[in-house]
Amino acid sequence: MEDSPRSQELLSLEAIYPDAELDITSYSGTITISIHSADPVGISFAAVPNTQPLYDSINYLPPLKFFFQLPETYPDTPPTVALLSLWLPEATLTALHASLLLIWDDFRDMVVFLMVDHLQEQAFVLFGLDPPIALTEVQFEFFVSYNREQLQEEFDTQSFTCEICQQYKKGKSCLRIELCRHIFCKACLLEYFSTCITAGDIEKVHCPDYECTKRVAEERKRMADPKTFITSGTSTRDMILRVVFTPPLSLDFLSFLPPEIVTRFQTLFTRDQYEFFKSNFPNRAVNCPVEACGHGIIRDDVNDDLVVCPKCRYAFCIHCTNSWHGKSMCRLAVRLDIPEDVLEQYLSYPELSKDRRDLEDYYGKFKLRRAADAWHMDVLFKEMMANELMTACPSCGVVSAKMDGCNKMTCHLCKTPFCYLCGEFLDRARPYDHFNDPVSECYRRLFEGMLGTEEELMRPIAPGFAL
Ligand SMILES: [Zn+2]
Ligand SMILES: [Zn+2]
Ligand SMILES: [Zn+2]
Ligand SMILES: [Zn+2]
Ligand SMILES: [Zn+2]
Ligand SMILES: [Zn+2]
Repeated sequence: MEDSPRSQELLSLEAIYPDAELDITSYSGTITISIHSADPVGISFAAVPNTQPLYDSINYLPPLKFFFQLPETYPDTPPTVALLSLWLPEATLTALHASLLLIWDDFRDMVVFLMVDHLQEQAFVLFGLDPPIALTEVQFEFFVSYNREQLQEEFDTQSFTCEICQQYKKGKSCLRIELCRHIFCKACLLEYFSTCITAGDIEKVHCPDYECTKRVAEERKRMADPKTFITSGTSTRDMILRVVFTPPLSLDFLSFLPPEIVTRFQTLFTRDQYEFFKSNFPNRAVNCPVEACGHGIIRDDVNDDLVVCPKCRYAFCIHCTNSWHGKSMCRLAVRLDIPEDVLEQYLSYPELSKDRRDLEDYYGKFKLRRAADAWHMDVLFKEMMANELMTACPSCGVVSAKMDGCNKMTCHLCKTPFCYLCGEFLDRARPYDHFNDPVSECYRRLFEGMLGTEEELMRPIAPGFAL
């Protein structure tokens, strides 16, 4: 390499910026200007103009790249320079570029070092931008993740004293709990949490610090206090899910544990919290009556008799746990005193048989028939649930299972009545007209497609209603 001013400058740049990418054959290079602020810098992103934007604050901003090339006539002629940034506004970049050329104009000498110095100074004052820096959604997400990576890198290279074993360890072997900033070594946390989770001591999976343990115990008391769940705006159920079912340490944080331990934690935590909540608020919690499901359901409105299982979509009555039968039509009273096996037996005997008559004499003919019909419908319903006979509401799109067994559907969310067969909206006041009108394509098809024989089902299902 010739011993020209160009090569001299490249050599000194290499010494000052060991991370610079320099090319001595083309006398060019790229220097990354990192933008770090000891005080957090606000960033914002507005999804829609004139709405409340999202805010965050970060310490590391994505860097600015400075590119230069020294021509043969350098430093008598200026270097070619360019700036590359994923986020600095065009006007700011143009102004920066002009200020770099002014530096050469002032000195007419080797100026690359001065240019980099100038950029670093400008980075320190955020290039004159006023935080919070307004970003697009993609930029916002990128800034947040870039900052997180840089902070992690910074943390990894520092050293800390583990609050459990009191040993001085590299950040790389430690974990910091974001909420309280307490730091422990991974080895200690791994042993402690694995032991707790394996033993089923799920309540102990939180920051092991003394003050934090006290705080978690107080929060648990709050979970048993009805006042906690008095909400304005958001639904009570959402509030309960947030307060009761959010673990003190996120699953993301716990991901340093073996996956089977995390899965066990997740399962036991949800189960324990549900039982804990149910013991404090028995009216608010109910298990899905579909045996294969059994999902723990948190009720949003305790005054609503209709409960819909969010897992299997079974819509049922809170009193009798049968498939939803409409308000004030609970069959609980009818069914209560007739055991299910009697109903099953009754239906297995031929119509007008002596066996049937004997049971009718014992339980009362009308009552037994109604109870048997109701029970049969529930059995069919549960079979259909198992066979996934479900359809989407034509009005709101929510998926419902076929209710009451017939082809007249009612959306459990918006209460729109519609036909299961053709998807047509039904008259709210006279929903069965659709099946009774000879002109309708669904004439006499109310029970079509049901499990079991159709003749058996063409009987009236309730007094005052006949096909
Ligand atoms: Zn330790
Ligand atoms: Zn803590
Ligand atoms: Zn369910
Ligand atoms: Zn009921
Ligand atoms: Zn609907
Ligand atoms: Zn129809």
